[in-house]
Amino acid sequence: MKFIVCVKLTPDTEQLAEVQPQDVGSDDLGVTMVLNPWDEFAVEEALQLQERFDGTAVVVTLGGPDATEALKRAVAMGIEEAVFLSDPAFAGSDAWGVAHVLAQAIKRIGDATLILTGRQSVDGGSGLVGPGLAASLGVPFVSQVAKVLDVTATHATFLRSLDEGMQTVRVKTPAVISVSKEINEPRYPNFMGIRKASRMQYPAITAAQLPGLDRAQIGAAAARIAWTNLRTPPARTGVCEFIQGATVSEQARILVEKLIAEKVI
Ligand SMILES: Cc1cc2nc3c(=O)[nH]c(=O)nc-3n(C[C@H](O)[C@H](O)[C@H](O)COP(=O)(O)OP(=O)(O)OC[C@H]3O[C@@H](n4cnc5c(N)ncnc54)[C@H](O)[C@@H]3O)c2cc1C
Repeated sequence: MKFIVCVKLTPDTEQLAEVQPQDVGSDDLGVTMVLNPWDEFAVEEALQLQERFDGTAVVVTLGGPDATEALKRAVAMGIEEAVFLSDPAFAGSDAWGVAHVLAQAIKRIGDATLILTGRQSVDGGSGLVGPGLAASLGVPFVSQVAKVLDVTATHATFLRSLDEGMQTVRVKTPAVISVSKEINEPRYPNFMGIRKASRMQYPAITAAQLPGLDRAQIGAAAARIAWTNLRTPPARTGVCEFIQGATVSEQARILVEKLIAEKVI
């Protein structure tokens, strides 16, 4: 069985607010770039599935030259095969364009049993690439997977984590899934893994090397979704007040009085 995990290089969440709107899309955002945190769960799951089902795991990313950093992190965690998709023709693609390129790469890799994605990216955050990938490949998509219950040559069964409860879903394989953070605890890369990742070569696969690629679906001109504005929300201005009181019931009485005075209750 083959488990293919798609990952994206994103700004370190601690520094997201420092990205300047005019810099979005430039090669250098002036912040530390890391493997999208949601994708760490997908990488960990691909590794666990590889071990559970005696299969193979492959990591794929699409991006500029720096995107190899996302692959390196996945390889350092234990993934053995990495695919780097990079070409000026891919630049400016929206989520559907990205999904179309990834779909062609997945066909090129071949024999996928499951394709794993994170829940969403921490920058674009649309959560559209997974469903777009499934649509492009013509295979089922299951979101918010909290547990992979079983995988056979023909079917896979998942537990989905919903606000209302848990749902069990069985689909035909190959299938695309997005994983939730309940699914596992991502491992930290060890020294051997980091060394292996830094020595590995990540040759770029270009548009010309993807036979099924439809150029009318990729790049800025093909984008169906436009980001027309990008800005950070205003800083929060709330005031924090600690209720003082000798006992818990005294504190509760003061709190209730304040809530009534403020017409909250
Ligand atoms: C110059 C520039 C302009 C842009 N303008 C627009 C725009 O106008 N409209 C627009 O929609 N987008 C725009 N983008 C964003 C870009 O196209 C997004 O990377 C793309 O839409 C992916 O969507 P997302 O970030 O919401 O990922 P999500 O759909 O939230 O990601 C879900 C999961 O899909 C996988 N994934 C996502 N991206 C990749 C990837 N590159 N490689 C491998 N796996 C991946 C990961 O597993 C991730 O967890 C722009 C980007 C640039 C550089």
